[in-house]
Formats: sequence, C-alpha cells, structure tokens
Amino acid sequence: MPTYEYECLKCGKRFEVFQKMTDEPKKRCPTCRGKVRRLIGAGAGMIFKGSGFYITDYRSKSYKEQQKKESGAPAPAKDEPKPKPKPKEGAPKAQ
Ligand SMILES: [Zn+2]
Repeated sequence: MPTYEYECLKCGKRFEVFQKMTDEPKKRCPTCRGKVRRLIGAGAGMIFKGSGFYITDYRSKSYKEQQKKESGAPAPAKDEPKPKPKPKEGAPKAQ
C-alpha cells in the first residue's frame, strides 16, 4: 500500500497515511481538525527518482575525479571531456 504524506495547513503537522490509491484523500488534521493538503511527490516513487538522479550525477563526477587522479596529469582548466588521440607507444612494428 502506498504511503501518502499530508501537511496540516493549520498547525503545520505532517503525517503519513497508509491507504489504497482508491481511498479518499484525508481532508482533516487528526490533531486540530484543520484542513490538510496532500504532499504530492512525497511518496516513495518520487524520492526514488530524485535520489536516482543524484546518484547518477554524483557517480559520474566522482568517476571523472578518479580518472584525473589515476592519469596523474594536471587537470585542465575546463572540466570538459576532450577526446584526445592516444599515442601508440610500446607497440613495436614488425618491421
Ligand atoms: Zn493540524
């Protein structure tokens, strides 16, 4: 069952309600009976999506950092991925 998060417009209390998607949304705060609004996007799906983006971004960044470290080359001023031709070395031609 999905969890829905609500916020009371009157007292600011936040609470989660387990309910079916077909259930009617809550309208009243259990504490003060004030009006509540459902926090759209507070559900697990949205959080997952958000953190997914974050992780992807974080990973690619740290990956670049790691590459810089490993290559030992001084970092260029601009952090742009430049395709540079690899000089072939240590590959002796067979005459
Ligand atoms: Zn309230």
